[in-house]
Amino acid sequence: MDCLFCKIIAGEIPSNKVYEDDQCFAFRDINPQAPTHILVVPKQHIESVDAIDSTNSAVVGHIFEVIAKIAKEEGLENGYRVVSNIGEQGQQTVPHLHFHIIGGRDMTWPPG
Ligand code: 5GP
Ligand code: ZN
Repeated sequence: MDCLFCKIIAGEIPSNKVYEDDQCFAFRDINPQAPTHILVVPKQHIESVDAIDSTNSAVVGHIFEVIAKIAKEEGLENGYRVVSNIGEQGQQTVPHLHFHIIGGRDMTWPPG
């Protein structure tokens, strides 16, 4: 499949890996928006949050356990943000489900 994140998971495109297990893969964003900016993706190709249903939602719970673990390892004890952009208006640029872990600075609200 011609998917950037599937290729990163397969090692066909290099990445700065943070974590990997049988269900998910985490790597540093190539264009970090904060001192810590990590993407966590399911190994299974799911297009976005909008494509989550009862057949594939278990991996999402697992990913959130991994997010909490990575945040601790990254020293984000003062807080951080988890973001998933969806579709055109959500400004999603890579159509493979991913959760951004963004931290290491004060966040702003509301998001732009
Ligand atoms: P989205 O815009 O879909 O929410 O997030 C896609 C993210 O993937 C962006 O933050 C972008 O910087 C990151 N990204 C795009 N291409 C690559 C790449 O080849 N390697 C890495 N590590 N990150 C990428
Ligand atoms: Zn994919």
